[in-house]
Amino acid sequence: MPRGRYKSRTLRRVFVKVPGGAVKLQYRKRKPAKAKCAVCAKQLAGVPRERPHIMRTLNKTAKRPERPFGGVLCSACTRLLLQRKARGVQ
Ligand SMILES: [Zn+2]
Repeated sequence: MPRGRYKSRTLRRVFVKVPGGAVKLQYRKRKPAKAKCAVCAKQLAGVPRERPHIMRTLNKTAKRPERPFGGVLCSACTRLLLQRKARGVQ
């Protein structure tokens, strides 16, 4: 029977093949939630969801799309915003 702290689903379960050839169950922390658009709450593409120690190793360009509002707004909302700004509608 697993220890008490491993009974809940707070930690995710990963089956790992160990050097001896046996398959063992390991418990790992879950990844953060996916990034969402600030306007329409659609999930953003091109934004990795990793724990901070992995995010620290990624390049800046690998962390979000290289465009205005990249990683904040989805492409459709960005397009609408820029069109409205260019037309002076606000
Ligand atoms: Zn959006």
